[in-house]
Amino acid sequence: MAATSMDQLVSLCKRRGFIFQNADIYGGLQGVYDYGPLGVELKNNLKAAWWRAIVYERDDVEGLDAAILTNRAVLHYSGHEDTFSDPMVDCKKCKGRFRADHINGKCPNCGSTDLTEPRPFNLMFKTAIGPVDDGSVFGYLRPETAQAIFTQFKNVVDSTSRKLPFGIAQIGKSFRNEITPRNFIFRVREFEQAELEYFVMPGEDEEWHERWKEARIAWWEAQGLKRENMNIYTTPKEDLAHYAKACYDIEYQFPHGMEELEGIANRTDYDLGNHTKAQDELNLTSHCHENHESTQKLCILTDDNKWVVPFVIEPSMGVDRGVLAVMTEAYTEEDLGGGNSRIVLKLKKHLAPIKIAIIPLKKNNEQIMSKCHELKKELMKLGIGRVALENTGNIGKAYRRHDEIGTPLCLTVDFETIEQQPETVTLRDRDTMEQIRIKTAELKTYLRDYFME
Ligand code: ATP
Repeated sequence: MAATSMDQLVSLCKRRGFIFQNADIYGGLQGVYDYGPLGVELKNNLKAAWWRAIVYERDDVEGLDAAILTNRAVLHYSGHEDTFSDPMVDCKKCKGRFRADHINGKCPNCGSTDLTEPRPFNLMFKTAIGPVDDGSVFGYLRPETAQAIFTQFKNVVDSTSRKLPFGIAQIGKSFRNEITPRNFIFRVREFEQAELEYFVMPGEDEEWHERWKEARIAWWEAQGLKRENMNIYTTPKEDLAHYAKACYDIEYQFPHGMEELEGIANRTDYDLGNHTKAQDELNLTSHCHENHESTQKLCILTDDNKWVVPFVIEPSMGVDRGVLAVMTEAYTEEDLGGGNSRIVLKLKKHLAPIKIAIIPLKKNNEQIMSKCHELKKELMKLGIGRVALENTGNIGKAYRRHDEIGTPLCLTVDFETIEQQPETVTLRDRDTMEQIRIKTAELKTYLRDYFME
């Protein structure tokens, strides 16, 4: 059974060091969170799994790591300056500000119905660039990672000689001044996205849109999400963003409801069309912003020597929402009988923040401790991720902690290890709680197989 309330997760995240409220000691900064010692590992593992599936396992995708600070022109021509806004209302009584589509004509804070008319509110963070802060020179913190992929399209194509279809992938921070951040890390003002822009021949876009939808669902399943906890929402034509031809949302059953985890949009030739020069010569199908500033033609030569502006399919996932989803799914409260219970985080092995906890049966025994250090050094060579030396010295507490943080294996060094030959240690499995005794000489092969499968 997965987590049923956000409180269960918030509490676990704070207690064990996954996620903390940002600036907690000063009362917090709303809609901003920090990842703690275990959260940073989990998030890195999720990003690595995405990068591996999208870039390394395919032969048609290149990576990019572009800047967060964004030239105003980029977000002008992308359409964000004009349209990246939510209609919002102000409560005249308590001065609260809310998204018009999130309330029912009534202030959620004080209950007043004395509200302003909905007005657009731009979600981008504007920032002064350079030493003069008179408002004349400014840029933005990017509200999505995608735009740099479009503005670097030509540099990537020229430097890699790519032909269609091919993609450019990027993981990085995005910033949106959300009016009502809420539901823990679900809707925040600073978050991370993993985005792929997959460029295809116009006409092949619908087929690729379907393929990417299937590939992304399969990937989420490989991260541990059950298919029955996901829903595919097809945006009705009348609700589509003006540039999109079609859009699927992969939704997940979060503790607060079934909500968007990843969007997969068919963005046609809108983005490259917006940023290209010589728009008139390119047979664009989208209604783009007129652009006389761009210095490059953003098109590609096909095999039959025609210049074409590709269509783009965009699978775009929120990394923070991904972390929340895999934690929700993995969270389990187990009744062990006899009035005992435990919390166990049944994360997939590749996502677990700590892969193996090495636990000394007795902390103040020199021989046991030195064996623990030696084993840690040896096992790190496997390259499986973090192998941690647990220093609590209380085996029961150590097991409980590692169950809660999702460590797949606990390895215990006891007196038998140092006193008997052949040398052995115990391995305890997180999910079954079963323990086996294994020769240290066989340990590396065993663990390599265990973590590779
Ligand atoms: P929503 O409708 O929930 O505001 P969106 O449709 O505006 O999201 P996109 O612009 O499609 O979101 O961004 C792609 C992905 O980025 C989303 O599926 C989501 O996982 C993530 N994302 C967007 N906004 C936020 C946010 N404020 N906090 C955390 N993740 C976000």
